[in-house]
Amino acid sequence: MQKRPAYRCPCSECRRRKTNPTKDLHQQMNFLVSTLDERQQRLYVGLESQKLGHGGDRQLALITGLSVDTIAKGRQELEHADASDRIRAVGGGQPRVEKKTRRS
Ligand SMILES: [Zn+2]
Repeated sequence: MQKRPAYRCPCSECRRRKTNPTKDLHQQMNFLVSTLDERQQRLYVGLESQKLGHGGDRQLALITGLSVDTIAKGRQELEHADASDRIRAVGGGQPRVEKKTRRS
């Protein structure tokens, strides 16, 4: 897993010299993203995009430097992960193997 330095958001708030809540948030998001692997980045940024709704992918692409496609993929993975995790939870682990104890 490669560690990249945190991406710096180029949005208008982050370009301001003074710190402001938006700038802090974007820096913290990018710090968090820099600690995640690629799949986790997609899922996290996809989730953030989902919170924003329409236009979220593009906004998150600006903030995090990930591509719009990557973020859209992350959102889709989140939707599917939810369903498949539930399916897995019902069965729970490997199929049971009947044990036969051999006695002589
Ligand atoms: Zn920003």
